[in-house]
Amino acid sequence: MTTTPARAGPLRAVARELLDLVLPVTCAGCGAPGRPLCPGCLARFAGPPRRCEQAAGRLDRMDGTVLPVWALAENDGAVRRAVIGWKDRGRADVTPWLGAAVRRAGTAVRGEVRGAVAGPARGTLLVVPAPASPRGRARRGEDLVGALARSAAAGLRDAAPLPALRLARGGRDQVGLGVRGRAVNLAGRVRVRPRTRPELAGARVLLVDDVLTTGATLAACRSALEGAGAQVAGALVLAVTRPPGSPTGWLEAAANPG
Ligand SMILES: [Zn+2]
Repeated sequence: MTTTPARAGPLRAVARELLDLVLPVTCAGCGAPGRPLCPGCLARFAGPPRRCEQAAGRLDRMDGTVLPVWALAENDGAVRRAVIGWKDRGRADVTPWLGAAVRRAGTAVRGEVRGAVAGPARGTLLVVPAPASPRGRARRGEDLVGALARSAAAGLRDAAPLPALRLARGGRDQVGLGVRGRAVNLAGRVRVRPRTRPELAGARVLLVDDVLTTGATLAACRSALEGAGAQVAGALVLAVTRPPGSPTGWLEAAANPG
């Protein structure tokens, strides 16, 4: 008898819970015992957020400018392992650690975000998480990116988290999809939650997501929000994937020329 894929997920989750009872906490980035993120891996998320929109091809705005995106880290090595563990392998215990880093990042980019869209700085900045698929949320048990958005809003001050977006049915969870598959999977599926429309109209928004790769997710989010009358000032992501052909460390090099 074989285990069907439909049964494997829940069984794995139960097995992990049982293991957690007997195994010590390990770092989601490097496996070192002691904490959900060891000091070394946590440090990868602790530097000043860096502008990274040049890594993604799909963030051009209608007005010819590019949506600003700030990233905490490059999505490789321990960062990549930690983010995958957090999102897809049941390491929700990492959320508070990443949340603290995102909160600091929010404070660090506060002035830049407020200056990123034209017009008077009026009202509360709304911090909108990129939507999770219903399936992904069910599997993870909570909206992880929503938790990051709450942390970012706390760091930005005069800001409020607003889970204004959802994914319409019809696609699948992004896990395991290639770059092109992700773009197709998301195209046209990001929707504004109707009850949030009054708040969005005329408001300035900062998007929050976990990883920036092609920019397809953020582009779809921005277009939905702009359709509701919001001005999207930019996005804050945990990690950015290195563009093909770029050397290791390109993010630091691009942000700190010389
Ligand atoms: Zn570590």
